[in-house]
Amino acid sequence: MNQRSLLMVPGPIEFEPAVLQAIGQPTPSHVSPTFVQTFGEALEDLRQVFLTDDGQPFVISGSGTLAMDIAAANLVEPGDKVVVVSTGYFSERFADIFERYGAEVTTVRAESGEAPAEGVVEQALDDHGPKLMVMTQVDTSTGVEVDVEEFATLADEHGALSVVDGVCATAGAEFRQSAWGVDVCVTASQKAIGVPPGLALVMVSPQAMEAYEARSAAVQNYYADFANWLPIMQAYEARRPGYFGTPPVNLVLALHASLKLILEEGMEARFRRHRLIARAFQAAMETLGLRQVPHSPDLRAATMSAVYYPEDVDSSLLGKVREEGVIVAGGLLPQMAGRYFRVSHMGSVSANDILATIGAIGRGLQRCDYEFELGAGLEAAQRVLGRL
Ligand SMILES: *Cc1c(COP(=O)(O)O)cnc(C)c1O
Repeated sequence: MNQRSLLMVPGPIEFEPAVLQAIGQPTPSHVSPTFVQTFGEALEDLRQVFLTDDGQPFVISGSGTLAMDIAAANLVEPGDKVVVVSTGYFSERFADIFERYGAEVTTVRAESGEAPAEGVVEQALDDHGPKLMVMTQVDTSTGVEVDVEEFATLADEHGALSVVDGVCATAGAEFRQSAWGVDVCVTASQKAIGVPPGLALVMVSPQAMEAYEARSAAVQNYYADFANWLPIMQAYEARRPGYFGTPPVNLVLALHASLKLILEEGMEARFRRHRLIARAFQAAMETLGLRQVPHSPDLRAATMSAVYYPEDVDSSLLGKVREEGVIVAGGLLPQMAGRYFRVSHMGSVSANDILATIGAIGRGLQRCDYEFELGAGLEAAQRVLGRL
């Protein structure tokens, strides 16, 4: 029998049929009137997904790491000070990227599974007076979600621009770019945006565009330079074609299709669905006696979960869960990668998907001879999902 399996890793995720159909269309010219219209609408829709009125969207071929690279290349010059609030692997990557462009980076860290305290971050801002403060909304290595609004407000009070890595969060976890005063948010297509890998997405506030324009020297990365891409994004939004580098036409068609689905659901409903499905999964893991990487429930992300293997169970659980029809991911933090696994619940994830995942994990645990009350995890999840 051709067994269907459910992909529950933190990107790529399961994609909607309408999105996959858009990719399969005959490729139009990037200057054809219908494509110009589609790209223009996608740029406008992105603003609604990031909940910004005046952000400048950039849609560029590449992965999430390119989106981070674009933010760093355009916003810092050698000697600029940057404070990075680190919650794991991807925060550290962002710090490296800023250093590569000559920034003087101060990284504020906490234990794995914790977020740095507000007071510690404030002290770093007082001590260094940075141009930028950088955070990862959901660090995919730890499943920790930070309070973006709180940190962005702190950055603003200290005259710093705020930069958010939203790769594992945007369009899933609550995020309000204008209301929270976030200057730059970067993400990628293959996570909660729900489009196959290949698009780097960046949303830039007018203040951050001013900081870019005030640079004393040209951007040291030709492909990433806003100067090359801004006229193209402005042209398509004005429903005119533009050319700097050939856009990934079919991926843009897919992005357009996915953004329509996202906005049809509505951002508030989408935030709520993600939050409840996360809470249901996390309640199930707790009920099964599995500890989670985030130290407290309020740090657990809306888009993914990081869960320790119970005693006497190791990463062979992943293979057993796969045989039960659900694909989940192993750990990512080098110092503890073999001790936990990660489950994504973002994009078009449904109550049924998460119950199937909890069921498969339960059957996997059974096959690992882990002792627990069969069905208790599903019951705990069902109680939470009853509120969906
Ligand atoms: C996946 C991810 C990235 C990197 O994105 P790629 O598309 O793999 O380059 C960066 N940050 C976070 C938080 C992520 O989850």
